Amino acid sequence: MTSQLEAYGRVAGQDVIDHLFQLSRPLTGLKVIHVNSTRVGGGVAEILEKLVPLMQEVGIETSWEVIEGNETFYQCTKGMHNGLQGNHVRIPEAQIAAYEEVNRTNAELMREKLEAADYVFIHDPQPAPLLSLCPNRRGEWVWRCHIDASHPYRPVWKYLRRFVRDYDASIFSLAEFAQMLPHPQYIIPPSIDPLSEKNIDLDDGEIAAVLAEFDIDPERPLLVQVSRFDRFKDPLGVIQAYKLVKKFVPAVQLVLAGGSATDDPEGEQVLREVQDNSAGDPDIHVLLLPPDAHRTINALQRAAHIVLQKSVKEGFGLTVTEAMWKGKPVIGGDTGGIRLQVINFNTGFRVNTPEGAALRIRYLFHNRKKIEEIGLKAREFVRDNFLITRHLREYLTLMSSLHFGGRDRIELG
Ligand code: UDP
Repeated sequence: MTSQLEAYGRVAGQDVIDHLFQLSRPLTGLKVIHVNSTRVGGGVAEILEKLVPLMQEVGIETSWEVIEGNETFYQCTKGMHNGLQGNHVRIPEAQIAAYEEVNRTNAELMREKLEAADYVFIHDPQPAPLLSLCPNRRGEWVWRCHIDASHPYRPVWKYLRRFVRDYDASIFSLAEFAQMLPHPQYIIPPSIDPLSEKNIDLDDGEIAAVLAEFDIDPERPLLVQVSRFDRFKDPLGVIQAYKLVKKFVPAVQLVLAGGSATDDPEGEQVLREVQDNSAGDPDIHVLLLPPDAHRTINALQRAAHIVLQKSVKEGFGLTVTEAMWKGKPVIGGDTGGIRLQVINFNTGFRVNTPEGAALRIRYLFHNRKKIEEIGLKAREFVRDNFLITRHLREYLTLMSSLHFGGRDRIELG
């Protein structure tokens, strides 16, 4: 067994690793390709970076392709993303034309590989038309939607559905996100890698050094939200909650740490608004981090007393999982995948408003034992449900069911 999988066995349990090998054995040697639209920034890239090598380790020939777009393409796909999350967006014809054109260009570059693969996983709307551009494909194609598509804006979904309906299956993170589609839909929540730079244990010295680098006082209470500067993450609501708390806990500090994904054109504008709203308060630290700042984020999450993820829409919220794994109580928006992770009063608190968030923050600061108690439950909840080993197991199960599903007898042992 490889040392990497042995190491996962130590965190998740050896039986978990044995099950992975059992499931992958009948699939050995099959070719899998994942396709998305960015190699860095955001949850999808974060997951693929870990899942792809692990699939390789259990004997499946797995690769990861990234489609290249232009500015108009990303404006269009951002509009689609917002539309799937329920915003009434109007996507101009020129953007739709760029969307289709970029997919045609990428199909030219990847067609041979994609058509030869046994499984192709297409992530999110950006590369969705690729299936229609690979007429001689021989494998199974699965559309993996990472977005909170519970109440999509109809015209956007109607357009996208034309591409999605022809897939052999789709995957959504939550049952509420599933759609009317003429193929099987699998519900697979995402996961974190406990051994990645983002999540491994850090020593106190490293955490202290990161706090010193950003001028954060280690002796004072600290709230942290890590996320792209995106309206759905509600960074302005977080600042509002912090300001309400500040009246009662004057020593409180806030870190809003984010970066930009290369496929998100709105980030700069949101960042400017965040900077305007926090101007003049030295206890608000708005940190614009490079995409590979995994250890820095790890340290900030570990240094936090409470982690916020006050999203108003959230596909899953890996930042929530990351914080819970570090034993932190999370105050999260009552939406999407946060509901799957934050069990109210148990692994954290779910809130709908800045006032609600402020109330829970004050409660925790006045009941310090609860911070620890909830944090411990949060960590165990992640160990049981949201580690990458569980995620890989579900991908393997899906592949088995697509591959062998038509047979009378399926031997998994
Ligand atoms: N992230 C990061 N740098 C940032 C902001 C976020 O590395 O500046 C990471 C974060 O730690 C998490 C992922 O990007 O692993 C974000 O995933 P999530 O599901 O929370 O949100 P998404 O960006 O996919 O909407």
